[in-house]
Amino acid sequence: MFTVSNGIILKGENLVPTRENIVVDDGKIIEIGKDSSEGKIIDVDGAVVCPSFINGHIHIGDSIIKDEGYSLSLSEMVKPPNGVKHVALANATDDELIDAMKASMWEMVESGTTHFIDYREGGIEGVKLLKKASKDIPIKPIILGRDDSFYGDDPDLNRVRTAVRKLLKLADGIAPSGFGEITMDVAEIISKECGKAGKISSIHVAESESNQIESLNNYGLSEIEKGVKTNFSQLVHLTNPKNDDLELVSGSGQNVVVCPRANATLNVGVADLNKMLDLGLKPLIGTDNAMLNSPNMFRELEFCLKIMSVRYGSYINPVDLLKMATTNICGFDINNIIQKSVIDEGNFAEFIVCNSFSKNPYLNIINRVETKNILYTINKKFSI
Ligand SMILES: [Zn+2]
Repeated sequence: MFTVSNGIILKGENLVPTRENIVVDDGKIIEIGKDSSEGKIIDVDGAVVCPSFINGHIHIGDSIIKDEGYSLSLSEMVKPPNGVKHVALANATDDELIDAMKASMWEMVESGTTHFIDYREGGIEGVKLLKKASKDIPIKPIILGRDDSFYGDDPDLNRVRTAVRKLLKLADGIAPSGFGEITMDVAEIISKECGKAGKISSIHVAESESNQIESLNNYGLSEIEKGVKTNFSQLVHLTNPKNDDLELVSGSGQNVVVCPRANATLNVGVADLNKMLDLGLKPLIGTDNAMLNSPNMFRELEFCLKIMSVRYGSYINPVDLLKMATTNICGFDINNIIQKSVIDEGNFAEFIVCNSFSKNPYLNIINRVETKNILYTINKKFSI
């Protein structure tokens, strides 16, 4: 048992700042109060206590080819099966992959991330590799698998269904790449089987304008409309919505993830976070392909803050932005699997304690703190 004393806690789902003590016992917050004090006392003297980060979307496997292919187009880089990343993944040994994934997971741990949602390539073997790589690292991977049987214009649907069911025995969900690579029948099987198993179905939508136009021309539906129609539990990107796409998602109750740094690197635009917030959406942010970006949420947060005013001329509220890296996952069905906690009595203790440099605790995290300024990281697997 220990007490983190005298910190500025960003408490609850709304990250309300309050100067109180937090008592932690056996991985749980048992008490928060101005005079609470049990066990070892850790006086953090005005440091900011923020929920640890959830990285909402990453492809950790491409840690093997950091910065390769810079300046190529989206499809040249990441489209299966011939994009730079898929060729590299197919040619990598298991040991190379495990070492590269471990290095990225340690980078995440050190920069305050305790949970990440990964699009894992390589079928069942790919899922097993990440489980093996993460075994001794104090981080929780949420692993979404995929299978080669998903692809093509006329896939064998029985084979797809069997592959999905087998994957779901091991993985936390399924994530095909996008609607450009799979048919609506395959998408429906994935979302239905995941729903039955209580797991996550996730897919990239509207990452590029050309994806959207192709989808509208070929099917009369945008990729976002397809994602809503097939009822995936999570939609990733939404960078180039058409017509009422975002309004549609706001009414569907689906979880949304945006990846501004990856979108910028691939020159496909920037998601309109303020419009999403106005519509009542609660996005997560993700660092996306490890080949494009470091999986460091401080870097993503600062980029998000600044690109919104450059691109849309409207400032984003820092507290709303920080929620995208922390508590926005709460309230969605998929958090049943992820189990990300907010800082409150009775919840799992999952927080970072950071130096305070400014009077605004949100901008302090987004705009000032770097990895070296994390004084403590507390989580279920990792304690002080
Ligand atoms: Zn992605």
